[in-house]
Amino acid sequence: MELRGKRAVVTGSNSGIGLGVAEELARAGADLVLNSFTNREEDHELAKSMADRFGVAVSYVQADLSKGDEARALIEKAGGCDILVNNAGIQHVAPIEEFPVDQWNRIIAINLSSAFHTIAVALPGMRAKGWGRIVNIASAHGLTASPYKSAYVSAKHGVVGLTKTVGLETAGQNITCNAVCPGYVLTPLVEAQIPDQMKVHKMDRETVIREVLLDRQPSKQFATTEQIGGTVVWLCSDYAAQVTGTTISVDGGWTAL
Ligand code: NAD
Repeated sequence: MELRGKRAVVTGSNSGIGLGVAEELARAGADLVLNSFTNREEDHELAKSMADRFGVAVSYVQADLSKGDEARALIEKAGGCDILVNNAGIQHVAPIEEFPVDQWNRIIAINLSSAFHTIAVALPGMRAKGWGRIVNIASAHGLTASPYKSAYVSAKHGVVGLTKTVGLETAGQNITCNAVCPGYVLTPLVEAQIPDQMKVHKMDRETVIREVLLDRQPSKQFATTEQIGGTVVWLCSDYAAQVTGTTISVDGGWTAL
């Protein structure tokens, strides 16, 4: 998988899946533009250390993707990109009658609308170069639902619809657009829930993981950020040149149920 000379923008890439995806793209030789809404010294340090580790160019661009104009500016500040990974996402869990309106709007803005904005700005450059790869990190919740996650499930289903539409609008132009749909991935966000769940359910760590977190994941194993990153690298390769407008599940069998 040789991506040397390609520039990849990965949104929400200072932690979790985004960071894992960025690392695998760098390992494959791609130059990187990292992003989050923060502008801390450690964000810029992360870019420097990744450049040293992988021998590629890495920069960090702060942009709050809840705002459409900042999502658009991210691609402009990056100088365009060959590979665009829309990964930034947040979650809020509540019954629909009690779902806070501001949380609904925020989740739709970050998890769905930001991808619309970045794709719209990135595509003309990809078309001009005659090559491009767009990968949207959706979720098993882009294909199936769970109670109390109305905004997240709606946004992720929307991402799958956007993926199909952009796949059609770019077909035959050496540009592909696909969605990766992870099941549960052991990111710091998920790891942080384990101690509380152990207390609430009076269970040990292994039982919480198997019976609470991975209740719907038949493999009873987390997907890893490296596995999501490897899937993205494969989608960027020539092997996947005819894979477009579709979803790739990495969910231990969740959506086969
Ligand atoms: P995470 O919290 O570790 O990472 C989320 C990233 O998005 C962070 O870098 C964060 O800074 C960034 N972000 C949040 N709000 C932002 C904003 N307003 N502007 C810019 N960046 C912002 O979570 P994660 O688990 O790595 O999730 C990454 C993606 O994967 C999300 O889209 C999530 O829905 C999806 N996903 C995660 C899982 C899982 O089990 N962890 C499963 C399926 C899908």
